[in-house]
Amino acid sequence: MTQIGFIGLGIMGRGMTNNLLKAGHKVTVWNRTAARMDEFAAAGAQTASSPAELAAHCDVILVCVSDTPDVEAVLFGENGISAGVKPGALVVDHSTISPQKTVEMAKRLNAQGVAYLDAPVSGGSEGAAKGILSIMVGGEAADFERAMPILQAYGKTITHVGAQGAGQMAKLVNQILVVVNQLAASEALLFAQAGGLDLAKTIDAVKGGAAGSWMLANRGPQMIVRDFRPGFTIDLQQKDLRLVLEAADAMGIPLIATGMVFQMYRTLQSQGLGGDGNHGLVKALEKMMNVELGKAD
Ligand code: NAP
Repeated sequence: MTQIGFIGLGIMGRGMTNNLLKAGHKVTVWNRTAARMDEFAAAGAQTASSPAELAAHCDVILVCVSDTPDVEAVLFGENGISAGVKPGALVVDHSTISPQKTVEMAKRLNAQGVAYLDAPVSGGSEGAAKGILSIMVGGEAADFERAMPILQAYGKTITHVGAQGAGQMAKLVNQILVVVNQLAASEALLFAQAGGLDLAKTIDAVKGGAAGSWMLANRGPQMIVRDFRPGFTIDLQQKDLRLVLEAADAMGIPLIATGMVFQMYRTLQSQGLGGDGNHGLVKALEKMMNVELGKAD
């Protein structure tokens, strides 16, 4: 039976690992904050004392940590995966990080005889918990086929988009759509409120039509009761928009709406709201309009 390792038991990794265990996979976990491993040990997972130790007895190693330097630390830092991994193993990175750095790190692991897929995900904490994530995969076709039975434990739409790095690039496309849809949902709901509409009924009326979006359907109901708990924090969203804007700059592509949303989120970060969910974007518009959406729960 394939020995699977999972590194990074945060909002996303937690749901993904739970689904691996539910599907009957043998899983070893490691998390920087060790207490986060307890619930998985109770559910039947093995625990490791470092990424190197985990890698030493796993065939497929899944990673879901925050940012590019964090993936680098887990892969190549002291007691990182690279220090323990067996030739022939496969590393799959589910974090959203730099496409360019991904290619460099993939090559370093390939030189050790280790296969690498970049496989960032979309679908939020709900998608991870329900096992219905979209997964955008870059790398060799044979490695994609090898990973598929594992990814199916938590993914619903799993697409091989191209060579190493292409998964991360597709994820950045996804992030442009996420934030611009979020801006549209925020502006539309404030407009609905000014027009005297019942906000919940308005969402129900429009979400299934041509104007529908995941953001409106899932975050709209939270926004109108002012529930800004994070599925995905503004701070992490900004990390992704920075990656998008850097890639666009390198390609000479103007991104007008995305650039504007990046600056709007920055105003929220400067007010100490970086830990809010990304649907807190509406607060930037509220400040400009001197109104508040909905009522406190
Ligand atoms: P999160 O809840 O903040 O969890 C981050 C995880 O990474 C934690 O397990 C954390 O360990 C670990 N970590 C961070 N830096 C580390 C380091 N230097 N060394 C070792 N471990 C480190 O974040 P998340 O929401 O699960 O997001 C994880 C990744 O998925 C990010 O790249 C994010 O952009 C992407 N993503 C998130 C969502 C979403 O809706 N949340 C959706 C799609 C993609 P500790 O427990 O010790 O802090």
